[in-house]
Amino acid sequence: MPRFTKITSSIGPSCETERVLKQMILAGVNVCRLNFSHDTGETQGHKIDLIRKISDALNMPVGIMIDLQGPKHRIGNFATEEKYQIKPGQIFTFDSNDTPGDATRVYLPDADVMQSLQIGDRILLNDGKIEMQVQDVSPNAIRTKVIRGTEIWSRRGFNLPDTDVKTSVLTDKDRADLEYAITKNPDWVAVSFVQRSEDIAEVRDFITERTSHPIKIMAKIERRMAVEKITDIASIADGIMIARGDLAVELPYEQVPAISRHIIRECRRLNRPVVMATQMLGSMVENEFPTRAEISDVANAAYLRVDSTMTSEETTIGSNPVNVVETMNKILSYSDDDAMANPADWVRTENAPENDWSRSVSSMAFLNHAGAILVFARDTVGVTEIACRRPDVPIVAVCDDKLIANQLCIVRGVNSVYMPDLFAQRDASAVAHIIGIKSNKIVIVDGDKVSLCDLD
Ligand code: PGA
Ligand code: MN
Repeated sequence: MPRFTKITSSIGPSCETERVLKQMILAGVNVCRLNFSHDTGETQGHKIDLIRKISDALNMPVGIMIDLQGPKHRIGNFATEEKYQIKPGQIFTFDSNDTPGDATRVYLPDADVMQSLQIGDRILLNDGKIEMQVQDVSPNAIRTKVIRGTEIWSRRGFNLPDTDVKTSVLTDKDRADLEYAITKNPDWVAVSFVQRSEDIAEVRDFITERTSHPIKIMAKIERRMAVEKITDIASIADGIMIARGDLAVELPYEQVPAISRHIIRECRRLNRPVVMATQMLGSMVENEFPTRAEISDVANAAYLRVDSTMTSEETTIGSNPVNVVETMNKILSYSDDDAMANPADWVRTENAPENDWSRSVSSMAFLNHAGAILVFARDTVGVTEIACRRPDVPIVAVCDDKLIANQLCIVRGVNSVYMPDLFAQRDASAVAHIIGIKSNKIVIVDGDKVSLCDLD
């Protein structure tokens, strides 16, 4: 059985050479994520060109996802680079005074944040290690009480778990990055710190004003507001990333697994690919082997039947990114196989769209022990509709458009192939033969015609 759960890998300094990227793709990477929080512009452009070149040479579709930094807030500088001591109970002030900070105050560069904070809101700095609570707000200063934490230093990032930040989801930097990225025709754009569905509409408008290329938008769920509005957001976005890194800071971390399950259910109901992200094999930044807990986390994502898992620092700055991909591939393949042995999940209708043809396609494949569902894919929608049934039968999508083949790389159980000649011919038995479907029974989906074909 081919692996069903896809692998999205973040690309960074450890894996930017042609040799390493090629090895990673051969080891199982389906989608490359380029994080614009770090490199931007031409530097990222070269990586996109390189990935496309490798994908063409191997004749394997690879999705490219650019990930915008979004409104990630940071405090200003302190007088020196050393750590400043603070203690619980003391008052600490964030203000609009652009001078170096000390143990009692620091500059807050972001005026939108200053205006959005309200008394009682929490401010979490440095990955949640420092917690402060707003006591008093005035136009140019926010007085807070330190609840937790002992030291603070320059340019720490912070999260505002209780605050509706009245700002655009696209910063000036994001606009410049997106403007450039659009010229390179990425398959996906991931949007960070989404708060509401209007944020996705804004990004969609920005893109469609500049290109007719149908770039897909992935909403990263990492704010409490986004969790609360997941149905609205998933309805308007094309895919969802469970961004557990920031999510576990903005919400009590013990809630993250439950929230993840809820998001996965909503994504299946609404037919949206869902990616499980962050720290999946985190210890492999340095280590050769994953921890037991990480093995379990990756396997559980397969049992939950997400579309894709993701690697982060373990591939961007890790000591052996190829080993990371091999490890993830091994765990997912085994767990996918084991999951298939259990009753198919699609039978439980509450997790999938109301009765429609995709249910029949899945049932037909399952009940007839078909070896594959072969779809002549004119677009991504029909394919994802079948995939979100989680038929536990491989779906082969024959495409006559490279973009469709690349965009389907993230979707669970889908093996997309770019074969314009075969698409034009649409002779299912010839296609099945050429792409090596071993079973003698396949379900063929061609436009609105669905048939079961016995290849014998
Ligand atoms: P990031 O997003 O790596 O861009 O912060 C993922 C996450 O927050 O989990
Ligand atoms: Mn994040």
